[in-house]
Amino acid sequence: MSVPSVRHSEVDVLIIGAGPAGLMCANALANAKVNVRIVDQRASKIAAGNGDGISPRTIELLQSYGLAERLLKECCQIHLAAFYNPSSTGGIELTNRTLNVTAPSARYPFEATLNQAAIQDIFLDSMTSLGVEVERSTMPTSIELSKDEDELADPTSYPVRVALQRLDESEGEQPEEIVHAKFVLGGDGAHSWTRKQFDITMDGEQSDSIWGVMDLVPDTDFPDIRNKCLAQSNHGSVFVIPREKDLVRLYVQLEEKDVIDPVTGRVDKDRMGPDHIFKTAQKSLEPYKLTGEFLWWTIYSVGQRVASKFSINNRVFIAGDACHTHTPKAGQGMNASINDSHNLAWKIAQVVRGWADMSLLSTYESERHKFASELIAFDKTWSTLVCGKPLTGQNSDGVSPEQLLKTFQTDFTSGIGVHYHPSVVVNDAYQELAGGLVLGKRVPPYKFMRAADARPFELQDLLPSDSLFKLLVFTGEFSDPLQQARVESMVADMQKPHSFLNRYATPGDSRFDVITISKDRKDKFDLLQLPTLLRSHWSKVFVDDTDPTGSFGGEGYSYFGVGSEGALVAVRPDGYVGAIAPLDRVEVLDAYFASFMKIPA
Ligand SMILES: Cc1cc2nc3c(=O)[nH]c(=O)nc-3n(C[C@H](O)[C@H](O)[C@H](O)COP(=O)(O)OP(=O)(O)OC[C@H]3O[C@@H](n4cnc5c(N)ncnc54)[C@H](O)[C@@H]3O)c2cc1C
Repeated sequence: MSVPSVRHSEVDVLIIGAGPAGLMCANALANAKVNVRIVDQRASKIAAGNGDGISPRTIELLQSYGLAERLLKECCQIHLAAFYNPSSTGGIELTNRTLNVTAPSARYPFEATLNQAAIQDIFLDSMTSLGVEVERSTMPTSIELSKDEDELADPTSYPVRVALQRLDESEGEQPEEIVHAKFVLGGDGAHSWTRKQFDITMDGEQSDSIWGVMDLVPDTDFPDIRNKCLAQSNHGSVFVIPREKDLVRLYVQLEEKDVIDPVTGRVDKDRMGPDHIFKTAQKSLEPYKLTGEFLWWTIYSVGQRVASKFSINNRVFIAGDACHTHTPKAGQGMNASINDSHNLAWKIAQVVRGWADMSLLSTYESERHKFASELIAFDKTWSTLVCGKPLTGQNSDGVSPEQLLKTFQTDFTSGIGVHYHPSVVVNDAYQELAGGLVLGKRVPPYKFMRAADARPFELQDLLPSDSLFKLLVFTGEFSDPLQQARVESMVADMQKPHSFLNRYATPGDSRFDVITISKDRKDKFDLLQLPTLLRSHWSKVFVDDTDPTGSFGGEGYSYFGVGSEGALVAVRPDGYVGAIAPLDRVEVLDAYFASFMKIPA
């Protein structure tokens, strides 16, 4: 009898795990037309539960992929946060009601909440439209990375060999397949199989707090049920998170002795059911009344840990919970996972296209490991405060409402504060030419008027996640003859053969999108006077002026700290500022791109 031979296949990127990290990466790579496959051991997609908070920065990045509109339609928006503390008469009382998002530059100054299944559906539907589906009931059984240095250094090689096993054998289909991949991403969650295959350790410790989580439609007289709320009572803490439609999520602080199995030391869900969690919540929220049917519940206890490595030889990567776990109290898990993949996907796309050197991929670990370490540090501080006894007459060293508020109101949780340090893709020179466009931070929102038709445009919408570097050319006042001469000289420099625009020109496939922003007023500006390099299309030229009704705009140069002498700003494909240069120093950008870009073969 002949033994059927195992099927072999090749793919640019294989993703293991279809949670937020894997789905985000698959979607971004499919958008970039990279050949990608994604597998998940689950037979079907999740239906409820898990994460639900999407931060302002994550909304911005979903917008850059055209995915925010649906999220904003389906989600609950949280604008206010309320803090409750023990009252002198027993029970709790309101101590503060404040902004939920305080980052002044947030384009979406609120948190969006929606169940994780619905958020994953947004990615799944987008991927389907791009021709990529999750291959379900499929898991890897082995993974090998070539040790051949030449093969590892060659971006066109397939050095990762993954054996896949189909768990639901359908007739005529071989249950096993060997996939040869250029790159593999393990987005396979907190117990990551991928991470374990390469003995990547998780550094940190188990958090000492355990939370009961439940989704319900409440019937209550609690006045802040539709605001985010932290109630610190003498019976423990409760977080109230309003959700889509009439739903509300409760995070309820539990006592270790009630849920931990003393023999295994692990959470035992049989020791405490939803009724007990609900009763604890009711007690903590007294004197307010709370009833309702719960739709989903779990008990949640996680480590506060970061993986020691996020990549093996820049060929196998891990993202999301596979490389960092923390408590759910800061609502960051799903956000961090989506942002990891957003950071990685454009780098892989550039390398697969042959546009960038493999070394670009090292910045994934350096940038996201730093972020993950900061996240764990924040989570520890925040968890300690949230789980601590509240300040009362009997408990003078308890946590005060002011302490809570001070820690809560940072722009870390909004995601806006993410700041990547200098590297091959983040220069550290000429920051003074554009103080509001911080090197290593995302480009903040601002509305400019399109020169041709005075239509207002949001700058962030001119920076889609389409794998291209954007060159923002702040020309200054082009109608001033002196400034015009400077701009023309800059254009002459950019047209020289060794300038980055020519060095990396790929026939029929531009790597750059040039966006011109003039300081001129719309009634003075003549678009056709601009050198053609600065107006590849009429829609690429903007003026810093008010909208036609005079309601907004016109202060962009001062908002971004750009002077009348103008500036050149290179924005990475993920929307982060990469380099800044004066108009008469185009060679600064030549050197920036030369540090990681490859000349077309
Ligand atoms: C109760 C609860 C509440 C939470 N609340 C929040 C919140 O409010 N805000 C927030 O941002 N985050 C929250 N989180 C965290 C959030 O759910 C996770 O951080 C997020 O899902 C991580 O995404 P991920 O893609 O890294 O991993 P996961 O979502 O865990 O996805 C991993 C995927 O990989 C698959 N997989 C695993 N192993 C294999 C394998 N060997 N082969 C094939 N497939 C595999 C799994 O089936 C799964 O689909 C919460 C989590 C829980 C449990």
